[in-house]
Amino acid sequence: MATKVAHPSPKTKIERTRLFIDNEWVSPIDGGSLETLNPATGETIATVAAAGPKDVDRAVKAARQALETGPWSTMDAADRGRLMFRLAELVEKKAGELAALESLNCGKTITDSKGDLEGVVNSLRYYAGWADKIEGRTVPVRGSFLSYTLRQPVGVVGQIIPWNFPLLMLAWKWGPALACGNTIVLKPAEQTPLTALAIAELAAEAGFPKGVVNVLNGLGETTGAAMVEHPDIDKIAFTGHVDTAKIIQRAAAATLKRTTFELGGKSPNVIFADSDMEAAVAGAFHAIYFHGGQCCTAGSRLFVESKIHDEFVERLAEKAKGRKVGDPLDQKTEQGPQVSQEQLDKILHYVKLGEKEGARLMTGGERIGDKGFFVAPTIFDNVTDSMTIARDEIFGPVVSVLPFKGLDEVVDRANRTQYGLAAAVWTRDIDKAHLFAKQVKAGTVWVNCYHVVDATTPFGGFKMSGQGRENGEAAIEHYTELKTVTVKLG
Ligand code: ADP
Repeated sequence: MATKVAHPSPKTKIERTRLFIDNEWVSPIDGGSLETLNPATGETIATVAAAGPKDVDRAVKAARQALETGPWSTMDAADRGRLMFRLAELVEKKAGELAALESLNCGKTITDSKGDLEGVVNSLRYYAGWADKIEGRTVPVRGSFLSYTLRQPVGVVGQIIPWNFPLLMLAWKWGPALACGNTIVLKPAEQTPLTALAIAELAAEAGFPKGVVNVLNGLGETTGAAMVEHPDIDKIAFTGHVDTAKIIQRAAAATLKRTTFELGGKSPNVIFADSDMEAAVAGAFHAIYFHGGQCCTAGSRLFVESKIHDEFVERLAEKAKGRKVGDPLDQKTEQGPQVSQEQLDKILHYVKLGEKEGARLMTGGERIGDKGFFVAPTIFDNVTDSMTIARDEIFGPVVSVLPFKGLDEVVDRANRTQYGLAAAVWTRDIDKAHLFAKQVKAGTVWVNCYHVVDATTPFGGFKMSGQGRENGEAAIEHYTELKTVTVKLG
């Protein structure tokens, strides 16, 4: 059985709770406030200012001014990069404190938060390097003309992020946006408002001119919607639920904003009989249980070749039973709480559905303790493709095991989903690995590994898992407008 839950008494001081606009802490004009919880206890840890439409407007004006007339508008690209390097350095120095705050507010283990902080620093540094390498081209146009292209900032960008990786999602969005010279209004998720405020302060300390980054907390339907509707925001970059993306896309149509979306998944993780069984069991375990399954890339559909199915599932269940679930701030903890009561209820609802639809609950399936939002690592065996637990994104530590017999069959079944974010294959057969990688409809494919994501490589979804790509050079395209300049010669 998973270990019992110890409840932390957090010592982390929460100092920043207001809106961050124009490098200043301000109180809302027409907003309100949000109660912020520690998901390990369910108790309130802070009350944070929430932005209303007038606050959004104020932040957008600050960002517009910084873009058009402030020092940012004429700053050399190399100097933009230097500011980003400086921010990365400050984040690195404060990584311990930021990681503790992240764990306290979103429930991820302190080990995972430290890993996220490394990702944040890597991302800022990677894009800092891009700042003075964003180039146009000369084009061999017909006639006596010189034509060349320029890549210029999209403008004021609204960034709306989720609660599962609060700082990492911020960095993925700030990195390319700043490298390309945009200015930012960012809205964190209502469940996890704290670390974005901490990093905003570091941005000011690093020397970013006022108005370049602004952070507004608030509810999606109010603050988020006001950003999407605002006529002076040029682009919305969103990470979250597919249903929210549909609302945003509809609302963004009114002002024809650019939009990029990074959405959910129901990622197939395919284990062939010729794989290294030990590595594959560990990989399948990590694929689903990392951050309690609260990852858009979670390997929640586990296809196991029939020949090895029984042994594989036994070994996986053994590991699941031994997972240390508890206080996220304890170094030894392997899985913290789910982020909220809502998520806890949703996961337990899917467990009931799985049982009702005839899947075999091998282990887990219940809440741990009666305080905080902890869920035991859960395995459903004998799942069929049509069951709800094999189709819906659960966003919790619940894996569906689906037996299969061959490559063509598994590719076909893996692709029968509205999603296409990630996929993985475990095999020693190089042909099978590459054939799977080629045929599976997913933005990221892992071979004999899982959850390996880097600032340098494009990340995003096929089908309803998203639009556009983050990370790598690909994100630069989404944060710039392409301009053609043609000069008459002679
Ligand atoms: P999740 O299921 O992960 O909570 P959401 O899509 O609800 O996913 O939330 C992701 C982000 O989108 C959060 O910052 C949330 O506040 C924001 N959001 C939710 N609804 C809207 C909306 N109608 N307009 C803009 N942003 C929204």
